[in-house]
Amino acid sequence: MATLGELKKAGKTLQVRCENAACDHVATLSIDTLVDVLGEKHSAEQRDIHHKLPCSRCREAGRSHRVVSVTHVLDHDALRQGRTSNAYGRARGF
Ligand SMILES: [Zn+2]
Repeated sequence: MATLGELKKAGKTLQVRCENAACDHVATLSIDTLVDVLGEKHSAEQRDIHHKLPCSRCREAGRSHRVVSVTHVLDHDALRQGRTSNAYGRARGF
């Protein structure tokens, strides 16, 4: 089970997609913000974290269905800024 701290160390972050077909909002989140808000020991797995990440568009539209799917993706911003020790990022010259 991956935690937010492990994700950050690996140079990754969370991409979330709203599963409401009328919305289909996709966002790549800041791993630093997630760690600040939830703590680095918090699980980064879909089943543990999806309820902490309500879709902002659905909330604004008053839709109650806020299931999001969570994917672990490379944190390109962090890699570009050299904030991680990701070996793949270094090899690619980020
Ligand atoms: Zn939504």
